[in-house]
Amino acid sequence: MPDDELLQRLRRFHLDDFPQYREQFQTLVDQGQHPTTLFIGCSDSRLVPYLLTGAGPGELFLVRNVGAFVPPYDGSYGHHGTAAAIEFAVLNLNVSRIVVCGHSHCGAIKALYGDVSPEAKNLQRWLDLGREAVLPVQPGPEALRRTEQRAVVLQLERLMDYPMVRRRVQDGRITLHGWHYVIEEGEVHVFDVQNGGFVAASKAQSSGTGPYPPYVEHDGQVLVD
Ligand SMILES: [Zn+2]
Repeated sequence: MPDDELLQRLRRFHLDDFPQYREQFQTLVDQGQHPTTLFIGCSDSRLVPYLLTGAGPGELFLVRNVGAFVPPYDGSYGHHGTAAAIEFAVLNLNVSRIVVCGHSHCGAIKALYGDVSPEAKNLQRWLDLGREAVLPVQPGPEALRRTEQRAVVLQLERLMDYPMVRRRVQDGRITLHGWHYVIEEGEVHVFDVQNGGFVAASKAQSSGTGPYPPYVEHDGQVLVD
């Protein structure tokens, strides 16, 4: 029998690591979770939200999917896991921040320019949520990075179509944060809604777009005066 490495790891966690967190988790069980941040991130294994943000147990309500995409709020009320998580985080958990975090070398964004297995019917459909970000060019490294960033902004715009998000952003209860994580540099670039670009965290004025200035949607309409 080969070593079941995963089982070894589970045992190691329980015996060696969990004891130092026992009280913290007991409190989180007794008092329930009160995370302040909904983190919508790509499923990519190189994106590690807890490392990036220094967060611990109970701090991030995490949703991850291929591309860090946000489905449209289109009234179809289907089996949309990400949409359900957004509703739960906003309406039940009352989060005050929503982060959408894409990253460099994103396979989902690359796939927007290439072929996807014809068998991956769900994936093909899912990638539609990033297509508006695609540039009419050959996808070199620079174009891919720009597409990754444009896709993040696109998801923020789509978040604003969720009525419960829009209301809270408008009255200042929720801030939106568009992030592009550069894996090889270990640095998040933050979307700056004022200048319409991404700024490295080391130079950025804030971690997100709030408190919210007038927000220009992709159709050019100003949302809040
Ligand atoms: Zn990705």
